[in-house]
Amino acid sequence: MRTWKWMFTAALLVAVSAAAQQPAPQSADKTVTAAQPDPVSSTADVTRPVTAPITADATQPAETPAQQPSVTPSSTASTPSQTSAPAPVPAPSALPQPTTMDQVVDRFIEREHGLMKVLSTRTPVVETYLQDLTADPQLGPVPSSDHYFLGRIDMGETVDRKDYLKEQDKGMEERLMGGFKKLYKVQYQPMGFSWMVYADRTDFDRTHYEFHYIRREFLGDVRCLVFDVTPKKNSGRGRFLGRVWVEDQDFNIVRLNGTYAPAPRNSYFFHMDSWRLNLIPGYWVPSFIYSEEGDFSAGIKNKIAFKAQTRIWGYDLKKDGKDDELTQIRVDSVKDESPTAQDASPLQAEREWQQQAEDNVIERLTRAGLLAPEGDVDKILQTVVNNLEVTNNIDLPRPVRTRVLLTAPLETFSVGNTIVISRGLIDVLPDEASLAAVLSHELAHIVLGHNLGSKYAFNDRMLFSDDSTYANLGFKHIPEEETAADKKAIDLLNNSPYAQKLDNVGLFLKALQSRAGQLNALLTTHLGNPLAENGTVSRLSALSSKGPALDNAKLDQVAALPLGGRIKINPWDDKAEMVKTVPVAITSARDKMPFEVTPFYPRLARYGANSTSPTTAANAPSGN
Ligand SMILES: [Zn+2]
Repeated sequence: MRTWKWMFTAALLVAVSAAAQQPAPQSADKTVTAAQPDPVSSTADVTRPVTAPITADATQPAETPAQQPSVTPSSTASTPSQTSAPAPVPAPSALPQPTTMDQVVDRFIEREHGLMKVLSTRTPVVETYLQDLTADPQLGPVPSSDHYFLGRIDMGETVDRKDYLKEQDKGMEERLMGGFKKLYKVQYQPMGFSWMVYADRTDFDRTHYEFHYIRREFLGDVRCLVFDVTPKKNSGRGRFLGRVWVEDQDFNIVRLNGTYAPAPRNSYFFHMDSWRLNLIPGYWVPSFIYSEEGDFSAGIKNKIAFKAQTRIWGYDLKKDGKDDELTQIRVDSVKDESPTAQDASPLQAEREWQQQAEDNVIERLTRAGLLAPEGDVDKILQTVVNNLEVTNNIDLPRPVRTRVLLTAPLETFSVGNTIVISRGLIDVLPDEASLAAVLSHELAHIVLGHNLGSKYAFNDRMLFSDDSTYANLGFKHIPEEETAADKKAIDLLNNSPYAQKLDNVGLFLKALQSRAGQLNALLTTHLGNPLAENGTVSRLSALSSKGPALDNAKLDQVAALPLGGRIKINPWDDKAEMVKTVPVAITSARDKMPFEVTPFYPRLARYGANSTSPTTAANAPSGN
């Protein structure tokens, strides 16, 4: 039946390895680097001392083209995602362009309030992943434990967060949010690190703040005006203190960096770096927040040392309401594609039933903001699955599909013929063989007929609120099936093009084992079986003895990657794509940062201008 062969396409390898930190750039990466604008040039303007009020040339490109067409003819395949964005009316055209810094300040204050209004009906997903730090003599600050928060945040007037996880780590949150809770007890629920989506939700104005123009600076492709923001005397506690970057066309804030002050006695405000993306015409929506505390220099004893990434996505999700749900019952999502008009045979009926369950689950998880819509990353995943299938002569009645779970914890599961793998797991895998290894375990479940999902073919089982998704869906196998799937997976790998590269998989499993005791939250799965239990990596354990010993001092040994290096999520429509980054040479053991969180540095671009990965377009299966 199958006429196609497995492939290691050069393009696939580039796509999977380009984002990785490489000990040395490889020749295959050249096409990628060539397509990248020089990152150094983005800061070229930084040092220019601009103290004068804004000059004509600074505003020159701003003839208010804010409402650029939502679809540009030249845009590539992944741009249509933006058509789903509604076009909130930015209405900057009514106002004259600011000619003085004072007018710029007035404008971005007004734009900030406009953003709050535009987003006030939204309930995006907020995820915070936090690693407590301890000092390691060789590796510097390393994770000692970790915490995970996931919920939906209501961007309306009263900020509320609905938690997806039943057992939140309230202790940690309340300790850190002590100051906020005291001050804003009535107005704010503890909302953790999503606090800094705005500088000041209620009083961002000249009465409460001083604004000082600093300089112009490029963030990515976007020219910005930089202002320091300080609270005025007696303006109250917990005011924003820091810096904002304001883009110079519509004068929206695109980045905030700082903390809150003054802190009440015995409480604590942490520092945050908050980034926004121009995902809808005229507005920049809060997308990433990095937080970090702690000082490991000699003689300093810090009680709190941590780093945390907060990601916001799912702005375009439907508001989760009971009324909504009842109207969303689907009669049937399975098309009758049988060649004749006959009734289904018993086996055929069973398969249709399973597909209905699979479609229900995938659709429900997507609607809850937990799964990315089908996209470019799936093409890469499916190519790897295909390599395993073809070389093992696996011929299933329906093709295996893949989808990306949008969350950080390292997890895979399968429902029907769909394999789901988390964003965090794809991020940390060092190479294609390791990706094949984690996918092979789920493919083995499918091949062995370990189908769990058929109860979800009943549509009433899809009727639950988004925040109780984890309580209502689950795809954990019994231990016997896990063992059988691991065994089968090894067979599949040994027969595959990845057979010669399983040393890398062994190395990855060793790296995971070395951190498993500290990264309990990252290894806690919410839908599938965990990779490790009680601090011991159990998944594919037959491979864990393969490969060289883990050696931090060996700079060319990259066993696992930091989080965030491979998958980029569009916070508006949840689409996932491979990150394009230039490989950066590792110069010390501290550069490896396996499984760790790092600051965000997204390359900012204006709406419609962010052309997307030409590298993935080249991945279309062709020949060979
Ligand atoms: Zn399993």
